[in-house]
Amino acid sequence: MSLAGRKINFAAGPAKLPEEVLLKMQEEQLNFNGLGVSVIEMSHRSKEFGVLLNETIALIRELMNVPDNYEILFMQGGGTGQFAAIPLNLKGNHEHADYIVTGAWSSKAAEEAQKYIKVKKVFQPSKPYVTVPDQEGWVHDEKAAYLYYCANETVHGIEFTPTAPESHNVPLVADVSSNFMARPFDFKDHGVVFGGAQKNLGAAGLTIVIVRKDLIGKQQGITPAVFSYQEMIANNSLYNTPPTGGIYTTNLVLKWIKAKGGLQSIYELNLQKSGLIYGIIDDSNGFYHCAVDKKYRSIMNVCFRIGGPKGNDKLEEEFLKGAVERNMISLKGHRSVGGIRASLYNAISLEETQVLATWMNEFAKIHNTN
Ligand code: PMP
Repeated sequence: MSLAGRKINFAAGPAKLPEEVLLKMQEEQLNFNGLGVSVIEMSHRSKEFGVLLNETIALIRELMNVPDNYEILFMQGGGTGQFAAIPLNLKGNHEHADYIVTGAWSSKAAEEAQKYIKVKKVFQPSKPYVTVPDQEGWVHDEKAAYLYYCANETVHGIEFTPTAPESHNVPLVADVSSNFMARPFDFKDHGVVFGGAQKNLGAAGLTIVIVRKDLIGKQQGITPAVFSYQEMIANNSLYNTPPTGGIYTTNLVLKWIKAKGGLQSIYELNLQKSGLIYGIIDDSNGFYHCAVDKKYRSIMNVCFRIGGPKGNDKLEEEFLKGAVERNMISLKGHRSVGGIRASLYNAISLEETQVLATWMNEFAKIHNTN
């Protein structure tokens, strides 16, 4: 099977999948494991699908080192569904939850949560989003049901590093949608860790939710069954028809990650890839400009402007056009931020990143007069 015609796809999500995974899916599409049907044609209650489901859960547990006191759930509704599911499941007898708002996605999460719990922001977010403010200044409350944060702000390219926020004795809730398995993850103090699969782990439609067992069973009475962690666990994620094709895709991606050496190897490669692009930005005398505080620069979504801090529309357009001519697509920044965004998810290779780096160097040589 030829890979000719494939683009270098820097999309923010849904995003590139490893070619090995796509080829395997193609190979198995008509006849999965000699069963004479595709996975997406099989009953979700069949023995064979059960094996695939349990294997996928086991692979997540193994690769992420998920402790035994956590359950792994497959849900639907995306990260956005979890913005509601979290307060619905975790409110219990608490009055409020604390939110760390560092970008568009945590802001959306806080907004949605307000329907189901009183939301307090631990600091007043100021725009543009470029950093994580000093933790000393945060106003925390130990009475909070949980403390919410977004581990990687996809739109703004801000990643919580090197560690999660201080929990102050309440369960942390982490949205890892855009850095799921991009680096080793420490579950310490976490109550819920969730994300959609469509960036690092597979196809849109599958939402992976990892929940600490002691937090299960506190859902509000109005919680829809499909959003109830308790209901989902009681049914091993088969309360209703799960996204079977999505689980299958993630199963293959997890095997690919394992074959690559696991999360530490993946992380080292991600550092190399993002380091290559940030290096060019930093060496450009301000021609390329990344507004994000260096400590919190994302290794997944590298966001930058061309021609200065506010960007030069003409230069950016020309850069994007040249990128397409060089086989690279989906480098345009989110419409709310503008500029360029290179999403360097796990499936993007160092060689592909190098093509972008070469174009950035070439482009700067022509246009950079700084
Ligand atoms: N959180 C983050 C960090 C995201 O990047 C996204 C999607 N881009 C979401 C949540 C929302 O996910 P979904 O579209 O799956 O609802």
